[in-house]
Amino acid sequence: MKVVVIIPAAGLGTRMSALSGGPKSKSKQFFELQGTPILVHTLRKFAACDAVSQIVVALRKNETAGFQKQIEQEKFSKPVKIVEGGEHRQNSVANALASIEAADDDIVLVHDAVRPFVDEDTILNVIEAVKKYDAAIAGVPAIDTVKQVERTADGAVVIATVPRERMVLAQTPQGFRFGLLKKAFDEATADGFMGTDEASLIERSGNAVHVVMGSPRNMKITTPADLELAEFFLAQENREASLSG
Ligand code: C5P
Repeated sequence: MKVVVIIPAAGLGTRMSALSGGPKSKSKQFFELQGTPILVHTLRKFAACDAVSQIVVALRKNETAGFQKQIEQEKFSKPVKIVEGGEHRQNSVANALASIEAADDDIVLVHDAVRPFVDEDTILNVIEAVKKYDAAIAGVPAIDTVKQVERTADGAVVIATVPRERMVLAQTPQGFRFGLLKKAFDEATADGFMGTDEASLIERSGNAVHVVMGSPRNMKITTPADLELAEFFLAQENREASLSG
């Protein structure tokens, strides 16, 4: 049974570029941490995990050639394939899924390119949960109180307070049996449904999605402020690696 990892990395990262030099600046997955693009840090995590068989990255067309060279330099110990991304994250993942040859009970993990601090335990826990339950995601409990709001011309007005104990903030990896994920994508395409994560497609096709504990470090680098925290986490990771190695 193989484990294929899909990394959607074809976003424009408008929340990052709006604050850091306009539309011409790089997509956020190509911002560098200690001289290496965020996407490469993320790929290193999955390439280092023995349970992973193959990685598929969805990229914007104009970023493919440059990135191909970078992959060659990295000399990853497992195959890394590049496919073209789509207009939305879901389209990017769909393109990657269409390029995979797998059996229905093989496992597919989808992981945001901009979460380079995923740890091996989280990856393995999601894989183990998929073996048991067919669909599982990493998630963390909500720390802030969550409000449901109605958007108004002046901003937003609270219409409900959601019980915090029942809230989980979804992270990635999100893992599924290949056959189940394919079916959910086909149904979503047929219905014109667009979700913000893969689990939402599985949920709407009536399957249970289990949650395993993620980590607060497994942040989605989205704004320039996140980059500062990311530099700090990376320095910490390097210190830990030099102490243990
Ligand atoms: O923009 P968002 O926060 O949803 O991005 C999550 C992940 O999906 C990022 O890794 C981003 O590069 C990817 N994405 C993509 N194709 C798109 C939009 C986002 O692969 N069209």
